Amino acid sequence: MRNHDWRATAKSWILAALASTAFLAVATRTGPRSEARPATALDPALSAFAAMAPIDTHIHLYQDDPRFGDLMQRLNLRALNICVIDDRDPFYKGLEPQRGDVLKARRSTGGRAVFCTTFSPYGFEAPGFAERTIHQLEADFANGAIAVKIYKVMGMEMKTKAGNYVMPDDPAFEPVYQAIASHNRTVVAHIAEPDSCWAPANSSSPDYQYYKAHPGEYAFAHPEWPSKAAILAARDHFVEENPNLRVVGAHLGSMEVDVDQIARRFDRHPNFAVDTAARVPYLMMQPHDKVRAFLIKYQDRVVYGTDLEVQPSYNTENALKEWNDTYRRDWIFFSSGRTVEYLGHKYQGLSLPAPVLREIFHENAAHWFPGILDTR
Ligand SMILES: [Zn+2]
Repeated sequence: MRNHDWRATAKSWILAALASTAFLAVATRTGPRSEARPATALDPALSAFAAMAPIDTHIHLYQDDPRFGDLMQRLNLRALNICVIDDRDPFYKGLEPQRGDVLKARRSTGGRAVFCTTFSPYGFEAPGFAERTIHQLEADFANGAIAVKIYKVMGMEMKTKAGNYVMPDDPAFEPVYQAIASHNRTVVAHIAEPDSCWAPANSSSPDYQYYKAHPGEYAFAHPEWPSKAAILAARDHFVEENPNLRVVGAHLGSMEVDVDQIARRFDRHPNFAVDTAARVPYLMMQPHDKVRAFLIKYQDRVVYGTDLEVQPSYNTENALKEWNDTYRRDWIFFSSGRTVEYLGHKYQGLSLPAPVLREIFHENAAHWFPGILDTR
């Protein structure tokens, strides 16, 4: 996918140099950089969203096209830009080139896309695993990483040499969790998957297309994998064992079908919060009044996130449109009583009170991810 031929690299450098010369010529005539590009107005439906200084705590932006920085500036948006390692996916196989892409995106967004690192869990049985991993994380922290992602390969893919599935509370990871806590960083825990991953295929499920495209991640086809309950119990266990570690459960903490499941964890674990990434439709699908009451009661424990993903090969125009459309749909759903449409169904918005919106879209992110407001 990435061309390492030096001639192609030299050619692209020359083209980039020519382009930036032409750009400077325009910029000097028309003033500052941001005004030199054709200005796109803020979507009027998003003006109240922008006024919240919103924070999206879950994106994967691996392009450094300046239009993302422009959109983020118009929306007055900051975001947590997350690295993931999954050896089953060619793009996510290793920390590089993702980490380099995330650092470039931080620069091109003027620091709005904030660095969340990860580590490879695969070598957990190798001697020196914890020391090496902590060493890498400390270098990333020094370079501005404010959080560390752990991924569902714990519990659903990785095995010990003896053939057992490795859970997120495996003692091999404990020194790493302790180091993250001692540096006052946060863990983003994408552990387990939606219930639909363990259920027969159902074309009306929000995840139907995903498991069709990723059959290797579909637990229903792998009855030998641990149950979802066992995986979530291991997640709860490491959260409990590390009361000084902030853990944000990605994707509603994989408790997407019933907010009561989340509430039970919140009551037990004060160091646990959840993000809404890629699961807002699941909030739409649950009883309106129950979800509204949950978000008001636990207004300090839910952080807004989307899971918007832009790999280097993705079409930038389409991605920008998807970003705008996602923020607009989510904002209408949380902030107003208007209906939003999802997979052919209409759902009434939650019309949450303004102070609750401010918590979910801004304050909680600042609390659960210290450093997210700092610009590097
Ligand atoms: Zn994600």
